[in-house]
Amino acid sequence: TRDLTESDSAITAAIEEEFHRQDNQIELIASENIVSKAVMQAQGTVLTNKYAEGYPGRRYYGGCEFVDKAEALAIDRAKQLFGCEYVNVQPHSGAQANGAVFMALLQPGDTILGMSLDAGGHLTHGARPAQSGKWFNAVQYGVAENTLRIDYDAVEKLAVECQPKLIIAGGSAIPREIDFARFREIADKVGAYLMVDMAHIAGLVATGAHPSPLPHAHVVTTTTHKTLRGPRGGMVLSNDLELGKKINSAVFPGLQGGPLMHVIAAKAVAFGEALQPEFSAYIDRVVANAKVLADVMIERGCAVVTDGTDTHLMLVDLRPKGLKGNQVEVALERAGITCNKNGIPFDSEKPMVTSGIRLGTPAGTTRGFGVEEFRLIGNLINDVLDGLVANPDGNPEVEAAVCAQVTELCQRFPLYR
Ligand code: PLP
Repeated sequence: TRDLTESDSAITAAIEEEFHRQDNQIELIASENIVSKAVMQAQGTVLTNKYAEGYPGRRYYGGCEFVDKAEALAIDRAKQLFGCEYVNVQPHSGAQANGAVFMALLQPGDTILGMSLDAGGHLTHGARPAQSGKWFNAVQYGVAENTLRIDYDAVEKLAVECQPKLIIAGGSAIPREIDFARFREIADKVGAYLMVDMAHIAGLVATGAHPSPLPHAHVVTTTTHKTLRGPRGGMVLSNDLELGKKINSAVFPGLQGGPLMHVIAAKAVAFGEALQPEFSAYIDRVVANAKVLADVMIERGCAVVTDGTDTHLMLVDLRPKGLKGNQVEVALERAGITCNKNGIPFDSEKPMVTSGIRLGTPAGTTRGFGVEEFRLIGNLINDVLDGLVANPDGNPEVEAAVCAQVTELCQRFPLYR
């Protein structure tokens, strides 16, 4: 019954320090966001105490009457949000959601065709170190060397050659709109299932800012914590109810035990928020802010992969300034700006070095930054980059000056107050 502040000072301190970091740094990691107070409150509740193996109305434990209500609400709201017939809100994460689809549709050794990590795909799409890369015959597609966009004809050629059982579209560093209809055409040609992992763009799909994969894919997976702005977690969606039955069995008892009912309640709250008109306006600002940030990066002498973005994220190519992703990531962090180093397509640098950084606008837009603020942020980033060009080991004077402006900007747009 004691408050956390009384019972555990060490964890209290770590949480307070993390709050201070989030409040005082500009968050540009494209996969992160800032959830509402309501989402956090739902997650920090007695629902964490409850075992509820099974699904609403069919549980292996007693006392599930009220958690059933929460899960049913999450499912109904997700169906409404994405206009689909089937949803499973139980996957603990995006990786678990993808694993559940593989378990439902594949046998070990089957061939899958996904986008390679270095072109913008995700580890779970068949990368060597991941389970998907170890347990399946994972063939990988990339982007065209001249456009740096997905080359659908090349994907089709690979699919015809390798005859995959599953084709995966989607990824973690794709700045441009994806043509899901074209992917389905390819899947149909070779008799494969099409899975779309919309984790990054789920918020844009929810509002129509990106075309929906649901009319085209056999099955769609997502995380709930990126542009969708919910708690950390995963979800599987489809319009095929028979497939849905297989996926339900794959999530539980196939892969997971008891669902995280407190997280599912928080997912329901986030989906309720995403159904409001304010969320559409938010996503429109996310996309407009990303375009401005990409423009400033180009104006100030960086290259941007595909020369811009249709979404919430961009890949900045640092080679025109002679800089590396790892060096820039730490310099920006010293200046109060958080992002991640990221390989660019056909990068000759190692994954721990890279020639690029990935920038995204979802978190900054949530705290209230608009195009004016993102223009300033783009200029602050480039001040740090130019400081590094002058002094590759770090430029304390420039970084301190930028940090002061970052602090001032963050104080004008505080978190949770
Ligand atoms: N799929 C995509 C496209 C992602 O970008 C990510 C995470 O970054 C995942 C899946 C995995 O999600 P999680 O980290 O929740 O397992």
